[in-house]
Amino acid sequence: MTEEIKNEEQLNFLEEIIEADLAAGKYQQIIARFPPEPNGYLHIGHASSICLNFGLTKKYPGYTNLRFDDTNPVTEDTEYVESIKADIRWLGFEWKNELYASDYFDTLYEYALKLIQKGLAYVDDSTSDEIASMKGTPTEAGKNSLYRNRSIEENLDLFTRMKNGEFSDGSRTLRAKIDMAHINMLMRDPILYRIKHAHHHRTGDKWCIYPMYDMAHGQSDSIETVSHSICTLEFVPHRELYNWLIEKLEIYPSHQYEFARRNINYTVTSKRKLLQLVTEKHVTGWDDPRMPTISGMRRRGYTAESIREFCDRIGIAKRENIVDVGLLEFCVREHLNKIALRRMVVFHPLKVVLSNYSGDGEWLESENNPEDPNGGKRKIPFGRELLIEQEDFMENPPKKYFRLAPGQMVRLKSAYIIKCEEVIKDNNGNIVELHCTYIPESKSGSDTSGINVKGTLHWVSAKDAIEAEVREYDRLFKVENPSSEDGDFKDYINPVSLNIVTAYAEPALTESSIAEKFQFIRKGYYCLDTDATSEKLIFNKTVGLKDGWKPAH
Ligand code: ATP
Ligand code: MG
Repeated sequence: MTEEIKNEEQLNFLEEIIEADLAAGKYQQIIARFPPEPNGYLHIGHASSICLNFGLTKKYPGYTNLRFDDTNPVTEDTEYVESIKADIRWLGFEWKNELYASDYFDTLYEYALKLIQKGLAYVDDSTSDEIASMKGTPTEAGKNSLYRNRSIEENLDLFTRMKNGEFSDGSRTLRAKIDMAHINMLMRDPILYRIKHAHHHRTGDKWCIYPMYDMAHGQSDSIETVSHSICTLEFVPHRELYNWLIEKLEIYPSHQYEFARRNINYTVTSKRKLLQLVTEKHVTGWDDPRMPTISGMRRRGYTAESIREFCDRIGIAKRENIVDVGLLEFCVREHLNKIALRRMVVFHPLKVVLSNYSGDGEWLESENNPEDPNGGKRKIPFGRELLIEQEDFMENPPKKYFRLAPGQMVRLKSAYIIKCEEVIKDNNGNIVELHCTYIPESKSGSDTSGINVKGTLHWVSAKDAIEAEVREYDRLFKVENPSSEDGDFKDYINPVSLNIVTAYAEPALTESSIAEKFQFIRKGYYCLDTDATSEKLIFNKTVGLKDGWKPAH
């Protein structure tokens, strides 16, 4: 993947095209658009397209429009429109104009009439099966429709009546009259309009005919004088039709450029598949923290900066590949390390009683973030009874075990050095608590004890600790590329992608806000979940502290 990681000095192929266009005076400014279909929430692949479009028009003079490609009334919804806008803004980008392909329905209808008048479109009464069976194959020409040679007058009449609602769904279509033997199958009299008696989220019941993608996208680009219309590789064969329609309609010549879709492993990046996960309740919603949606990643605690950094690092490519989710997590971890507030939370508690401590009510201080000189400090209550992690104690430790063991000393983070004096067990031999002593002169920041210990443990004061629910996540799928496996992609869902733990948090965490990011010391990065209430703290694990994944250079 090294060759795809963007080298700072090197321009990507779109930047090269744009720089050449600007240098040649072809454009004074670059006009781009991000054109989501409002039929689902945006995912990490869309983030890459957003960063690309908005990034180019930030780097070069010009702007990016947000255009909702809302020509399919059945699957679209205003909930999606709102979520898309919120996600783009959260990612840190602002569009110049908020536009809707549906606002162009009148113009697109006029364009269709113009094609008919030029003898370049006809109404076809064939069923969709008939049309498909006459399409031919890549090596065999298709057959002309029986209705291909209708007169312009008849076509105008029928198309007007299609618009007026005289015909049922699927009974007729408007097709471009190009060439049924064309080497590009998409040029074999493509369908431009279909009848669909359906309510549209913006135009209501005004229309019962809707333009197909190819009859809407390029024309919308042209209406908006988009200079560089960037889309993904599956649209390469559409480019010829895109150009044909612009030429025949004699409208502004926008240009289409393609780059490879971005996919990441252990998940799916298709709105249709993500919708299935939501409706079939494999996840709790579009913003489930396990989802690769922007809203899911946000809820999980990923930052906009880290997603932008990820998109920048993967750059753009001309051929498809799957990017390791480890790279995304690496970017998240790198950013969180800089900004996360350090806090102490014990997950599997073991009680420690300090037999020689009588200073209950003492408050200690600890830095919020050693990486941030302006991060400030917080207060932490200390006490006679503490909780540490069960895994930080061993009754019979191996050599070089630097945590707590009988007779051994450790430092409690930002507090004192303690020594384990006695292990208390119940009747079944289970360890229930440890009796320890503390070294009063060893207080962090003013340690005069002269004792050196190798291990430092996180801890909380037993009586001050706050119970919190912690949601830990694993990959949503068991395999790297669930879409390419045999059978249904849902057969590969990881059955244990959520693990809920009750943990014990230092009291500073009661005042957490969703915007804050935390590092639970020695545990990982966490954030408050939107399900949390004033009565119940709920945290999501964003990402662990370390991972095997390393950048390629
Ligand atoms: P999906 O298959 O998830 O529904 P889509 O392409 O149908 O994706 P659109 O709403 O049409 O989704 O996409 C809006 C823009 O985002 C398009 O320009 C599309 O090319 C781009 N895009 C979508 N998915 C990806 C991806 N995985 N990587 C890069 N760009 C993407
Ligand atoms: Mg699409």
